[in-house]
Amino acid sequence: MIQIPRGTQDILPQDSYKWQIIEERLKNIAANYNYHELRTPVFEATELFVRGVGGSTDIVNKEMYTFEDKGGRSLTLRPEGTAPVVRSYIENKMQHDVNQPVKVFYKEPMFRYERKQKGRYRQFVQFGIEAIGVEDPMIDVEVLSMLMHIYQSFGLKNLKLYINSIGDHESRREYNDALVRHFKPRIDEFCSDCQSRIDTNPMRILDCKKDRDHELIKTAPVIHDFLNDESKAYFRTVKEKLTDIGLDYEVDYNLVRGLDYYTHTAFELMSDAEGFGAITTLCGGGRYNGLLELLDGPHETGIGFALSIERLLMALDAEGIELEQPEGIKLYICTMDDNSFDKAGTLLHQLRTEGISADMDYKRRKLKAQMKDADRKRAEHVIVLGEDEINSGEVELKNMQDGESSTINIDELKNYLED
Ligand code: ATP
Ligand code: MG
Repeated sequence: MIQIPRGTQDILPQDSYKWQIIEERLKNIAANYNYHELRTPVFEATELFVRGVGGSTDIVNKEMYTFEDKGGRSLTLRPEGTAPVVRSYIENKMQHDVNQPVKVFYKEPMFRYERKQKGRYRQFVQFGIEAIGVEDPMIDVEVLSMLMHIYQSFGLKNLKLYINSIGDHESRREYNDALVRHFKPRIDEFCSDCQSRIDTNPMRILDCKKDRDHELIKTAPVIHDFLNDESKAYFRTVKEKLTDIGLDYEVDYNLVRGLDYYTHTAFELMSDAEGFGAITTLCGGGRYNGLLELLDGPHETGIGFALSIERLLMALDAEGIELEQPEGIKLYICTMDDNSFDKAGTLLHQLRTEGISADMDYKRRKLKAQMKDADRKRAEHVIVLGEDEINSGEVELKNMQDGESSTINIDELKNYLED
């Protein structure tokens, strides 16, 4: 038997409504903040991620689904959304749009060759936003406020927003030097990844999942002490504005994001709900000044976040929040014999064309089994079509919620069932 690839999942018909509700909510909130959808291809030139995400990241080193097409090009299934959005911004010259920042969202499957674990899939759906073209703490605050709005709109309570500033390039450079001085003498006590990170991107050592308990991690210099005045002022303003709008956050000086292009504001949203399991990160993001130029684009800056619907669902689960099942069909038609079976087919066709959701039993089962089927399909109303009904042109329309019946003309069904 051929099985589903490791790390992927089928979203079954009885569960897909949860995804639809979440996707609808995300779309509405995006509209609320005036973000518009940008759809990019499922695969991109491999070089986009190698350059845009960074050669020292797990994504590029270990997790990409890279293949060569028949024309000999190296392509990669999209592992994250920021680099493609930035590529599109540059390619479509969006810096010339009158409206800046350009505010977009995406909601698309991402592909990463991950080790299998709860909350870690090889194909997962990320919703993310990017605001490109303005550098102002106010935009950072908008992005954070939208992020919290999303999670709070589902009634989630066990949320913790951590923020930090990684500073600008100058601050970052000095900090990197300090980290090298700190780790270099004892780097052989660290994992092989960290041993190469010390040369490529020392900040990533702080983000290492294997060495997180090493004493040198705990005693490492913190970025905050290396921020120049400008970076400090930027961070201060972000924090003040968050307080102004009443958004709770905690500063975590050790928060550095896995991707190379972050500057200034970096953040993560965690769940501290019991039963969430080992993985508690719901969403991550930050400001990326420099990414556009790194990809040969204009001198513009951006900020964004990405969350996965899979982990949002886990958080809902952990807090016992259930999404409301959508309504069932408007009408279920039970049939008694071959003649009414055929008649039901015609009636269904009419009603559906007129926009009424309706169904019947195609297996020609007994009436009792049909009634059960109507229940399962959560039909709002049921009629039984038999010889009498066909002759008289009238049916008993039974309301399944209150059990009341009323006699109505078959031709009147549409008017009656319409909202
Ligand atoms: P992690 O530390 O969990 O590996 P990350 O730093 O790789 O996360 P990002 O690249 O910032 O994560 O992705 C943003 C969000 O996407 C994460 O906060 C998480 O909610 C979600 N996410 C990342 N990888 C996966 C995955 N393999 N399966 C499901 N969701 C994921
Ligand atoms: Mg990861």
